[in-house]
Amino acid sequence: MYPPKFGYVIPENIHEAMEFLESHDDSRPLAGGHSLIPMLKLRIIRPSYLVELKTLKDLQGIKKGSEYRIGALTTHYEISKSGIPLLSQTASVIADPQVRNMGTIGGSISNADPLSDYPAPLIATNAKVVVISKRGERSVPFDQFQKDMFTTDLSQGELVKEVVVPAMDGYRTDYEKLERKAGDYAIVGVAVAIKEEEGVVKDVRIGLTAVNNKAMRAKSSEEILMNNALSDDLISKAASAAVEYANPSSDIRGSAEYKKKMVKVMTERALKKVRK
Ligand code: FAD
Repeated sequence: MYPPKFGYVIPENIHEAMEFLESHDDSRPLAGGHSLIPMLKLRIIRPSYLVELKTLKDLQGIKKGSEYRIGALTTHYEISKSGIPLLSQTASVIADPQVRNMGTIGGSISNADPLSDYPAPLIATNAKVVVISKRGERSVPFDQFQKDMFTTDLSQGELVKEVVVPAMDGYRTDYEKLERKAGDYAIVGVAVAIKEEEGVVKDVRIGLTAVNNKAMRAKSSEEILMNNALSDDLISKAASAAVEYANPSSDIRGSAEYKKKMVKVMTERALKKVRK
């Protein structure tokens, strides 16, 4: 199906983009278009205007200092080649090369599809989202940025400017994605970031995606692991505890019961991979 008619706005700069978006409730920003255009074609949304972001320099590029500042327009392909801990591995298993070349991190997290991959590593790395509007910038922890299925903390006129990921020095990380076939959305996605000292876990964060309305932090699992050695037995207990954060629906990717079982399997797999 063709999308309904819309006006296409190419702003000169970010201020013009924010001004237009804020003064037109019926406008939407356009990044890679790989979620927005299908939604238009399916007539799920009918904005009167799309505001092109791809030319806006303020939203481009990756800066590395004590943390990584990833511009909203950075594509999944660019992130997959960036070497950013956990994010790079995750981006490399999003969809297929065509989608990775067009889709952006800003578009992905603004879309807030509960099946998307980035939320798990963004929780595991304790990332922040920098939001910009005419009123200035604000920084939001990722787990507060995602509100619900397809719902974020963004208001009309606000844009994701960048995603800030800590350098994760001394951490070992892994993302495990269970999918029906290469390039598909996750059935279950589990991200782990862990720091061990003298054989004992000193910090750990676990993010789960695709098994609830939004990505979840498996706090009970983290508590089981903290200040302990990563034995097979402990990993199994921690992986079982992660299932309490899963409330999946049965769909073409499997039954709710199967997905819950897979949360344990994939969490166990990720924890064994990060063990020294
Ligand atoms: P767009 O489609 O342009 O925009 C998406 C939404 O975000 C729109 O509402 C738009 O207005 C808003 N938006 C965009 N940028 C900003 C910004 N900077 N600030 C505020 N709002 C903004 N994703 C996965 O995670 N895993 C997968 O396995 C996967 N498989 C896919 C397979 C296919 C065939 C397709 C088509 C998509 C798949 N995706 C997958 C989704 C893909 O990653 C999208 O590219 C991504 O979700 C949206 O990014 P985009 O840049 O294309 O955003």
